[in-house]
Amino acid sequence: MHDADVLVVGSGHNALVAAAYLARAGYRVMVFERRPQPGGAVSTIEYLPGYRFDLGGSAHILIRLTPIVEELELHRYGLEYLELDPLFVAPFEDGETLFIYRDLERTAAHLETHQAGEGEAYFRFCQTWQPFAEAVCEAFLRPPTPWAISRAFAFRRGLPRWLWSLPRILKPFGQVLEEAFRSTKLKALMAWMAAQSGPPPSEPLSAPFVLWHPLYHKGGIARPRGGSGMLSTALQRCIVAHGGLVYTSTPVAKLLYHNGRVQGIALHNGDTYTARAVLCGTHLLELIDHLLPIPELQALRPLLRVGNGFGVMLRLALNAPVRYAATDSPEARIGLQLLCRSVDQIEQAYGAYRMGQPAQDPPLLAMTFSAIDDTLAPPGGEVLWLWAQYFPYALNCGSWETWAPQVEKCLLDQFERYAPETRKHIVGALFQHPVWLERELGLRHGNVMHLEMSIDQMFSLRPALGWSAYRTPVRGLYLTGASTHPGGGIMGASGRNAAYLLLEDLERGRL
Ligand SMILES: Cc1cc2nc3c(=O)[nH]c(=O)nc-3n(C[C@H](O)[C@H](O)[C@H](O)COP(=O)(O)OP(=O)(O)OC[C@H]3O[C@@H](n4cnc5c(N)ncnc54)[C@H](O)[C@@H]3O)c2cc1C
Repeated sequence: MHDADVLVVGSGHNALVAAAYLARAGYRVMVFERRPQPGGAVSTIEYLPGYRFDLGGSAHILIRLTPIVEELELHRYGLEYLELDPLFVAPFEDGETLFIYRDLERTAAHLETHQAGEGEAYFRFCQTWQPFAEAVCEAFLRPPTPWAISRAFAFRRGLPRWLWSLPRILKPFGQVLEEAFRSTKLKALMAWMAAQSGPPPSEPLSAPFVLWHPLYHKGGIARPRGGSGMLSTALQRCIVAHGGLVYTSTPVAKLLYHNGRVQGIALHNGDTYTARAVLCGTHLLELIDHLLPIPELQALRPLLRVGNGFGVMLRLALNAPVRYAATDSPEARIGLQLLCRSVDQIEQAYGAYRMGQPAQDPPLLAMTFSAIDDTLAPPGGEVLWLWAQYFPYALNCGSWETWAPQVEKCLLDQFERYAPETRKHIVGALFQHPVWLERELGLRHGNVMHLEMSIDQMFSLRPALGWSAYRTPVRGLYLTGASTHPGGGIMGASGRNAAYLLLEDLERGRL
């Protein structure tokens, strides 16, 4: 008799989603997590008394386009989503501020007052590309078999339409924006949001990152009340309510492998557990390097591009709300605040990164979710989180230990160009550079997406050809997490896809 039907290694949100589907279907599931709290890069801690900091992802966008929250009834386990509207706010140093609201018509009307014709261009862009973006999203919600992808893109939506669009879909996203808009500010706003997955505006074949934009209006952007980690907490409660177990502070040492089959796990204290299947939700390199260093898996190593990190996060606790010079609208602190002058600013930051240097003039994404969630900071206080790109994990000179204070200062100088005198209000700070992200969250090279999100590592090629459908050539071993299709970000689709395949195999007696 096995100890469980499925053992899950790591409790990233994808692994938790998969475990919740399996437990809900009546299977015995045990999850083992190295860290003291579940969720990996979707977790929240009280960093200072009264101030709650997310440790990883904060903006819940992709998961809102999936049925996961409803299917697992996560509201019953304490998940309450707070909507951001406006979605995005872009204050500029010249005093102008652009707002992107959830409502497309309202946004178009606002952009029209900024520059005649741009509201109409924005409306047209969103209408034109919405079907493409929806097809991408549909492909994300299934294992990336050629059939599933063709069905999402070609047959269901009409092949001629995609062939007509192909030249633009294959372009760099900066080029697509250049052709669609005239306003430097609007292009900067959209490019900076598109760059959040890593690739810069000039990267060939990157257009889908900006063609995705219409879906922000469809699914919106939201925050779990109490912090991003409340999603993971709700998933953990859901698993436990269905009879599953989630162990924290319990690192898995290795997988038990015998006769060509994965049969269970071993912990560092020597305890072992067996199961019909093991689902690995860690970074793929953790599996290859430590958990199961067998030749079949090690052959994958040279095929994986982990990249060189790309972003840093400065989390600040303030004793007063942020005040932008460009606007005193209370709405300005609600949406994601995109502080970027131009597409060129992003490219320049990327240029420095390519040379192994921290960007000197980085664009910032500022977040002040205490504006809509009073559980994040004490009365009158604020949490201010600044995400900046591009910053390499491997520096061509010095180490992150020596660079960290300079980069922190650079980020604050940059932010004060938009919100002067913010420094006066800082009561605590946490700086998460690429080496911190690797050390604390297991994100190799500080890449928050696990592997680079470029077209050669997406869909059937993530993590590699023949390994993309969550089942692996190693019997009894399944994969989930950002190393698998559809990649990084808070979506849970990889967990849901993997769970459905595992359920199929469990039910058909394949295990
Ligand atoms: C600073 C930051 C900001 C981000 N911002 C956003 C955002 O705003 N919106 C968005 O959509 N995405 C964002 N992301 C990206 C997103 O959070 C991640 O891509 C995603 O959460 C990865 O999820 P995962 O399921 O792959 O698991 P991971 O979060 O990578 O979790 C893997 C888990 O496995 C555990 N583990 C590893 N080895 C072992 C072992 N041997 N035994 C047991 N456990 C082990 C780890 O401790 C970890 O908990 C951000 C990420 C970071 C770090």
